[in-house]
Formats: sequence, structure tokens, C-alpha cells
Amino acid sequence: MRLAIAEINLQALAHNLAQVRQFAPNSKVMAVLKANAYGHGLVKIAQHLNDADAFAVARIDEALALRAGGLTKPIVLLEGFFHQDDLPILLANNFQAIIHDENQLIALEQAQLDAPISCWLKINTGMHRLGIAATQFEDFYQRLLATENVKNNINLMTHFSCADDISDSKTAQQIVLFDSLVIGKQQAHCLANSAGIIAWPAGHGDWVRPGLMLYGVSPMLNCTGEQHNLKPVMRLTTKVIAIRDVEAGQCVGYGGRWQSTKATKLAVVAMGYGDGYPRHAKHGTPVVIGNKRYGIAGNVSMDMISVDIGDNSDNIKVGDDVVMWGSELPVEEIAQCATTIPYELLCNITPRVSYEYLE
Ligand SMILES: *Cc1c(COP(=O)(O)O)cnc(C)c1O
Repeated sequence: MRLAIAEINLQALAHNLAQVRQFAPNSKVMAVLKANAYGHGLVKIAQHLNDADAFAVARIDEALALRAGGLTKPIVLLEGFFHQDDLPILLANNFQAIIHDENQLIALEQAQLDAPISCWLKINTGMHRLGIAATQFEDFYQRLLATENVKNNINLMTHFSCADDISDSKTAQQIVLFDSLVIGKQQAHCLANSAGIIAWPAGHGDWVRPGLMLYGVSPMLNCTGEQHNLKPVMRLTTKVIAIRDVEAGQCVGYGGRWQSTKATKLAVVAMGYGDGYPRHAKHGTPVVIGNKRYGIAGNVSMDMISVDIGDNSDNIKVGDDVVMWGSELPVEEIAQCATTIPYELLCNITPRVSYEYLE
């Protein structure tokens, strides 16, 4: 019997990509597949995103894994390259580099390459993480143009810091700054992550970079994917492995963090932080057993979680399925219960969980 399973719904994935196109009908789509496609399985997800115009990843190894898996679409490296020695790998594999730093520019100027590389120039418009300053833009742009190692159509991009919050004016300011810098430059412009796609149409540009929304999850504060007509791709399930009684006053789990105030029954389920379920999920975080919600009791441990099933009037048995998150229980809600974001929960799924891909 298999216990922890991540079911991956590939029809939901296709639906979500179509939904990206509904939001941004005039933009090309660079599907973001970093961190094992947000924990969904890099190559499998890529194989089912035929409709995307390009892929984007954070690390060169992720891009190489896509090529090894037979994927031939253009691949954008969101952090560019890290050393001049990486450049022949980029060239040989048709990887496009985001250039955000002067060291990369110098490496490109000094390298001896057989052919030019496709580059995106990243401008810092307020995120203050990667990207060149607005004041450096024209200089960088001209130096890239002058470099034989770089293809002449240098695409232009930036990244939003607060697009998940529609009441924050920062995103509008970032769009205005970006537009004022790139005005008159005909090359492709790319600004929006999922939150930008959903909430900031002025930032759609020629290309969009959806990550989280492809997986059916909302990037917006206090929302679920359903509110944007997205469908969750991952359903994380396991099984009940024991049912036990506790008496009033007994403490449950490590540290005895939770003390039962009444006699009740617990279903012990095979899921824990060793599977990637968040240890900080608070007492009462919901799970679904047989279409009904129950709350977890006490601390999450490595391999198990206790679930309070009351008097078990629903007759839950060993072997019953338990949904930790999925279409019936939004991962956004579990993230809130664990004071984190759904991105982290999806990325944290460990190799102990088996994947089942539903066509
Ligand atoms: C991860 C990432 C994205 C995708 O962000 P989502 O919020 O998951 O849509 C887009 N652009 C860059 C630069 C990223 O690092």
C-alpha cells in the first residue's frame, strides 16, 4: 500500500495555462519551472506545457535536466549564468541568459564564443534583489549591443516585489519606471509574474512569466486559485494508519503540546515533515477524510500526524484516504495555518512522496 501520494492533474495544468492566456491574451508565455516545477516534477510538467512559448528556470542544472528530458523549447535562465565557463553550455543548449550584474556583462565582453547568446537585460525597478539600476540601463544596453557575443535583440525585463497586494501602489510605480526607461526600444518587454498577470494588466508586456498560477494556486493575498478560475494541480494524500482513543486531560504528540479537553478519537495519518508537510501547521489545521474536514491535533512529527475525529461517528477506518491539500482543501489555506506561503509548501515535497500523473 502506498501512503503519501502527490497526484498531479495534468488537465488542470493545461486549464491553468489557458487561463494565463485569458488574462494576458497579447503576451507570450514563459512557463516558470524552477524548483522541480514548484514540486510537481520538472520534466513531466514541461512535457505537458506544449502550449507555452518558452520555459524559465533558476539554475543551469534545471535547464540541462529539461534538455536531457528531450524538451526543445527556448529556456530562459532567470539568474543568468554564474561564471564565464558557463557560457559555452548556454550556447550549446540554446539557453537564454538574464543579465543583471556587471560581472556577467564583463564575462560576456571577454569570452571567446563561436556564436552569440540571447540575453535579457534585467532592470531593478524597486525589488532591490537582482537587476541593474535605472541609471545604469543605457550604458549596459549599449555595451551589450556592442558585444559580438550577444545577439542584438536584447530583451528587457524587470520583476515586481508587491504585486500580490492590489492595494500597494508600488507595482504601478515599477511599471511606470520600467516603461519610461525602455520607451522607444522595440525589443520584447517582460514584467509580470503570476500576481502581475492576475492583477496588473498594465504590466503584461510582450511576455509574461507565470509560475504559481500554472499550478492552480493563487499568488494574491487571502485568495485561492478558484477565485481566478484556476484549478489546483497537486493533490497531496495519505492514509489513516491507526485509530486510537484519548481521554480528557491526555497530552498528544511530542512536547505534549496539545491536551485533549474531552474523550475523543484520533486518526493517526502517515504524513509529516519528512514528506514536506509543514511542521508549523498549527493545532486544528484542516485535513479532509471522506469529504469532511477534521483538525490536526498537536505537533506534526516526521512521519505522522494525529487528527481529531471526535467520536468517529463517520466510521473512519485504517486505510482510509486523507487529503492534506488539493481541490477540496486549498493549499493556500494550509499555508496560512502554517504561517507560510503556498510556494514553500509545494516546493518542500520530499522524495518519499510518490507521484501519480493523471492525464
Ligand atoms: C519565480 C519567478 C517568477 C514566477 O513567479 P510566480 O509568482 O510563481 O508566478 C517570475 N519571474 C521571476 C524572475 C521569478 O524568479
